[in-house]
Amino acid sequence: MFPAEFDYERAESVSEALDALERHAGADVEILAGGHSLVPAMKTEGRAPDVVVDLDVPALDAVNALDDRTVIGALTTYATIADSGAVRSTVPLVAEAASEVGDLQIRNRGTIGGNLAEAHPGADLPAAVLASDATVLLRNQDGKREVPATGFFRGDGETAVERGELLAGVRFPHTGEAGFAYAKKIHPATGYAMVGVAAVVETDGDAGGDGGASDDAGGEETVSSARVAATGAVDRAVRLSSVEGALADGPLDSTAIDAAASEAPDDIDAERLRSDAYASGEFRGELLEAYVARALETAAERVAGDTLTA
Ligand SMILES: Cc1cc2nc3c(=O)[nH]c(=O)nc-3n(C[C@H](O)[C@H](O)[C@H](O)COP(=O)(O)OP(=O)(O)OC[C@H]3O[C@@H](n4cnc5c(N)ncnc54)[C@H](O)[C@@H]3O)c2cc1C
Repeated sequence: MFPAEFDYERAESVSEALDALERHAGADVEILAGGHSLVPAMKTEGRAPDVVVDLDVPALDAVNALDDRTVIGALTTYATIADSGAVRSTVPLVAEAASEVGDLQIRNRGTIGGNLAEAHPGADLPAAVLASDATVLLRNQDGKREVPATGFFRGDGETAVERGELLAGVRFPHTGEAGFAYAKKIHPATGYAMVGVAAVVETDGDAGGDGGASDDAGGEETVSSARVAATGAVDRAVRLSSVEGALADGPLDSTAIDAAASEAPDDIDAERLRSDAYASGEFRGELLEAYVARALETAAERVAGDTLTA
């Protein structure tokens, strides 16, 4: 299939890209990052932009780990993120989620900026970005704009990015010794998440010598903070505040994890559950509960400080 005709512009800096967006303010403009959503959509789904601005900006293809935060540029590929020692040691959840995206070809081309801007309801990184309490960094002709991840995803393909704006990167606070996990039920046809759950859990107290925050008998640690987010279940990635609330100030053992996971349906409007040839909405609801438990169990095992660098 051939795409409809379009004008092509290459931008080699952020200001060139913003100038192009401004010049074509009245037109339907798409940004070409990794092209792994845009190009198939133009070839087979009738997406027909008037102008494609090819983002070729080395400065946006970078991981910058600072004292308390890591900034990942919009053009950084999943493969770079998954393999980055800096990401694996400061925000390991994001590296884990990036390693779960599609296949090697997709991971070598697809970018974090494209993944978030496309806002596919089954994309992996939105859940990780939400559970990491990240901030999306936008640029426009007036300067910069920052949007907390919780306010970024508005629906299937809908985000806080406005016309004339560019997603420049994502800022992640370091998660330190927190337990983390991304648990994904892969859609067998597409590789996207039927349901994916990202969790970051911190505890206070004595971990015991075996790293056993998940040890039912240990019982000394309590959850000081829990962030849990899901993708795939409804039209956008969402934080699961009832699950988080159920974990707060309690132990992180299997009983507490099961009880918290059973709260997941309260965070989702059952009528909005996605349904397709592979899974009904009802089944996705059951997957959600099961994968919340899986993510929390893995996070509990890691809460004593095991990271992807171990
Ligand atoms: C076979 C297949 C399997 C896949 N499996 C998965 C999967 O398992 N998990 C998953 O999460 N994804 C999956 N994807 C999607 C893939 O990750 C895409 O790469 C991603 O959704 C888009 O990133 P991109 O860099 O390719 O963006 P592009 O396709 O270049 O752009 C996508 C959209 O984002 C906009 N955009 C891109 N960059 C910016 C920016 N910096 N600022 C503002 N707007 C921007 C574009 O205008 C366009 O509308 C799959 C795709 C395919 C084809």
